[in-house]
Amino acid sequence: MKKVYITRAIPDLGITMLREKGYEVDVSGKDRPLSKKELKKVLSKKPYDAVLTLLTDTIDAEIMDACPTAKIYANFAIGFNNFNVEDAKKRNVFLTNTPGGGADRVAEHAWALILALSCRVVEGDTFLRKGKFNGWDPLLLHGTKLAGKTLGIIGTGRIGADVAHRGKNGFSMNIAYYDVKRNEALEKECGAVFYPTVEEVLKIADVVSIHVPLLDSTHHLMNADRLRVMKKTAYLINTSRGPVIDENALVVALRDGVIRGAGLDVFEFEPALAKGLAKLPNVVMTPHIASGTEEARLDMARLSAQNIIDCLEGKIPQNVVTI
Ligand code: NAD
Repeated sequence: MKKVYITRAIPDLGITMLREKGYEVDVSGKDRPLSKKELKKVLSKKPYDAVLTLLTDTIDAEIMDACPTAKIYANFAIGFNNFNVEDAKKRNVFLTNTPGGGADRVAEHAWALILALSCRVVEGDTFLRKGKFNGWDPLLLHGTKLAGKTLGIIGTGRIGADVAHRGKNGFSMNIAYYDVKRNEALEKECGAVFYPTVEEVLKIADVVSIHVPLLDSTHHLMNADRLRVMKKTAYLINTSRGPVIDENALVVALRDGVIRGAGLDVFEFEPALAKGLAKLPNVVMTPHIASGTEEARLDMARLSAQNIIDCLEGKIPQNVVTI
């Protein structure tokens, strides 16, 4: 009987799919991520054939060697920066993710952050709750109009392109983008303009939204120098991965008025926040919930379980991670 380990409870759908195949499925009973030591220990107890992982599990040589029978680590996540791809290649182990699972929801969330900033929703809410509203005031909490302004997208894959479409069709924005590869479909459909460097997009964009995977090449993609290239009136949105932005540099930029504001769903030192970030009025934050809907989680459960089933049935899983 094939054996599967799941590192934290996921929606029943995924677990049922695996059990219906006749697999023995063990699920961690802890309502938190396992430490590396705990994961190594549990994986060395049985000859597991597959492991269903979360983005909070670091999967590298140490873990793979603790469970040499595992043929696949299937992430319940669109991201895959918790995987050491080289270590897996050396051991002929499949690594998979769940692309598409909740991508549209992440795009919606990026828009929630953009609108929260441009319409000053959180500041307005706080103002009211503090009893500061004394009646209509023509100078009160001015926001930013988006129509006719430029939305800069860094990384125009599934989520970035979706954010761009909504910007063009929903808010009449002009789209500028940078990606390591051209997105001709987006150029055709949205009139998106490709710029060959990140800086060129930063210079002209009124809103910059980041949608790259976390890789060595994207770590601190937004640093102090690049923040200074942005317009003083611009907003920076990040729903990708925290370490793509140098968060300490961002705190300084927001505090000193280098940029107007930031909308963040992900954080460099997650779950901790960089010192001073939470005190700033010009940042809107959510706790890494951009893909957090029931539909998205069900999609992710289905896709991650299917990747395991494909692998254990001798097929190449649909969502193998490649860099
Ligand atoms: P995707 O693979 O479809 O798109 C990523 C794009 O980034 C690609 O077009 C790729 O060419 C581009 N890219 C790669 N390296 C680059 C670089 N150095 N500079 C510029 N562009 C580069 O991925 P996606 O589905 O759009 O997801 C993007 C990221 O969003 C994921 O990797 C994940 O980390 C993050 N994510 C976050 C949440 C959340 O809950 N906040 C949920 C899902 C995904």
